[in-house]
Amino acid sequence: MDTTDEPLDLYDIAVLLNYERATTEPRFRHTKLREVALPGTRPKTVAFKAPNEHEWIDNDCTWVVLDQVPDQSSDRDLFSDFLPEGKKPGGGISEQELETLFYQVRCHDGGYINIGLLQILFNMFPNDTKLKIRHAPKNKSPGESYITSVTKRVIIEEPFMYPKTSMAIAILPENQLLVSGNMPNFETAIMGFGALDDPSDEVKSYLDLSSMQFGDAGRGPGLNGKQLFALDTTAEHQSRVMRTMGGNDPEKTPKTSGAIRGTPYDDWLTEVATRVKKKWDNRHEEHWCGHCGSPDATSKCAGCGQAWYCGKDHQKVAWGFHRGYCNKA
Ligand SMILES: [Zn+2]
Ligand SMILES: [Zn+2]
Repeated sequence: MDTTDEPLDLYDIAVLLNYERATTEPRFRHTKLREVALPGTRPKTVAFKAPNEHEWIDNDCTWVVLDQVPDQSSDRDLFSDFLPEGKKPGGGISEQELETLFYQVRCHDGGYINIGLLQILFNMFPNDTKLKIRHAPKNKSPGESYITSVTKRVIIEEPFMYPKTSMAIAILPENQLLVSGNMPNFETAIMGFGALDDPSDEVKSYLDLSSMQFGDAGRGPGLNGKQLFALDTTAEHQSRVMRTMGGNDPEKTPKTSGAIRGTPYDDWLTEVATRVKKKWDNRHEEHWCGHCGSPDATSKCAGCGQAWYCGKDHQKVAWGFHRGYCNKA
């Protein structure tokens, strides 16, 4: 099949990038969940001070305590590896909350890592590569979708004040503590896209591959999405900001740029992007789950025969987006 004219699909690419990145994140390789302390509670197994005891801002802090386990020689850390064997981490935490934590940890402070990843991936395609952008459907109306080019992208660095949540991740046995959202200022880096024929370069779509750092408020696409990244229209982006931040930083203005310099993670990100490109190029032969990106996708959408899932659960959570495109060319 000649597929050279098919545009790159930003939604599909985001699902693949999310899987390849999350399951190989160097900062969290071979870690298992030991304990979760939801806002208002403190972990019992570590003795770190709470963020607000450091005179940091007093917002909702989720603690996650991880155990670094000896190298298991697996090439990936899957969600199923994240849970401690034989026991639940307590606190009546649901399966979906555990999934949120798995990705919340891996998206920790991840704005620039993800911008670096997207940049490396897009640079692997020729400049005249078409890009299809699909937004989530709203109520009865279909989602907005359009074709643009991979070059119609911009990096947006947005300064905000008072993030509504913070996250403290303790990694044992080395007692490493990673905290984000604890300062009054918070800057995000996300990628924006515009229409092909618009000389004003107005941003119409906002992709944040690290939106899960805000927990469930980071799920998308669209504001009621259940998936693992944000792909928002301008209105959705503004509402998401209101959900996660106290407001814009009046002292600073957003910055846009065409490219960022490399990150310390570029070797790893290049491997991630290379695997994603290979899967994309091979998309008609091998499928992946339209929610989690797992290659173990055996369940096909009966409506269109075009979407695949690792099982009924992920088919269900992806339906809020897919219903807008099922049976559509
Ligand atoms: Zn799945
Ligand atoms: Zn379908």
